[in-house]
Formats: sequence, C-alpha cells, structure tokens
Amino acid sequence: MKKVCIFGGTFNPPHIGHLIMANEVYHALDFDELRFMPNAKPPHKEASNLVSGEQRLHMLQLATEPFSYFQVEPLEIERGGLSYTFDTMNELKSRESQTQFSFLIGADMISSLDKWYKIDELVEEVNLIGVRRPGFEERSDYPVTLIDAPLIDLSSTTLRNRFKEGKDVSLLLPENVQTYIRQEKLYE
Ligand code: ATP
Repeated sequence: MKKVCIFGGTFNPPHIGHLIMANEVYHALDFDELRFMPNAKPPHKEASNLVSGEQRLHMLQLATEPFSYFQVEPLEIERGGLSYTFDTMNELKSRESQTQFSFLIGADMISSLDKWYKIDELVEEVNLIGVRRPGFEERSDYPVTLIDAPLIDLSSTTLRNRFKEGKDVSLLLPENVQTYIRQEKLYE
C-alpha cells in the first residue's frame, strides 16, 4: 500500500507553519507522499478575505515546488461547495484503492473534532495526525497521532493583515508566493 498524508486547509495564504509541519510529519511517519488540499468552502471557519480556489491552488503549487514529495490535491476546489473531509476522503479512497490515507491537522482543529461532519465514521477510515500549535489545546476524544514539530506561532490571518498594512513578511512564506500575492494584489 502507498502511504499518503492529506493536509487539508484553507491556505489563504500558505505559510512556513504549514510547510514545516508537513515536512516534519512526512519524515516522522515515512509517508510516500504528502498532499496539500485546499478546501472550496471551509465548513468550520469564517472565511474572511478568502481568495479564489484557483489562486490558493496556485500559491500551493509555488510553495511546494522545491519538494518532490509534496503534491497539491485539487479535488475539493474542483468539486466546489462545502468541503466535508468525510466525503472527500471517501472519494479519494474510491479513486485510489491501493492507497492508505492519513489526514493532518493542527491543534486548533484537534480540539474541535467533535464538530466535524461524520467524525466517528471518519476516524474509522483515516488516521488522524496532529501537531501542536501555540495557543491551542491538543485535547481530543478521538484518536490522533501527535507528532513533535517545531512550534510556529504564525497564521494566515497574521499574514493577510501584514500584507494589507504593507508590513514585512520576509521568511514567513516562500518568496515566490509573496511575489504572486503582490502581483495579483490578493490581500490589499
Ligand atoms: P487562518 O488564520 O486563515 O484561520 P491558518 O493559519 O489557521 O489560517 P489554515 O489553512 O486554516 O491556516 O490551516 C490548515 C491546517 O494547518 C489546520 O489544520 C491548522 O490547524 C494547521 N495549521 C496552520 N498553521 C499552523 C501552525 N502555525 N501550527 C500548527 N498548525 C497549523
């Protein structure tokens, strides 16, 4: 079986917190591949200043370019509508029957798992992998494999605000993503 870790999120925009956690988890659990998967509409989040799915896919393609084992999964953007992880993972499993899927989340998501659509069924079908996040408890009533990774106190919200205010963002997200955001005026 091929071992693939799906990393779902809004990625508005992707940042080094995402890249570092993905990289740590990929190596710690010996995955064959790790796929960043932007959602069309997050069910659990107020999507403030949400740029288009195509633009978020493009930013992820730029951010993952240097890493051969990072891929980008367009399924939820192509499907549109609300993105329920349970539906998505079932679709992926039926497309790729020879793959064992895991799903990566940060601590803010770990503590809200009880609100997820069909969470009891979801945890039967995929391994949930979690990482800590500053300011959030990683407590959960559901099985989550916790992986140690450097704590990064950074969010997409902080970056959107910095772009808007014209503040420095160097080192917080890949340079090619910064250039694209400025060219397209995504967060002005
Ligand atoms: P926003 O500020 O827009 O809410 P975000 O920074 O939380 O965005 P998302 O794209 O919503 O980023 O996050 C995708 C996934 O990555 C979620 O599971 C989230 O918990 C996790 N994540 C994001 N940033 C971090 C971080 N700095 N440390 C740990 N996990 C993180």
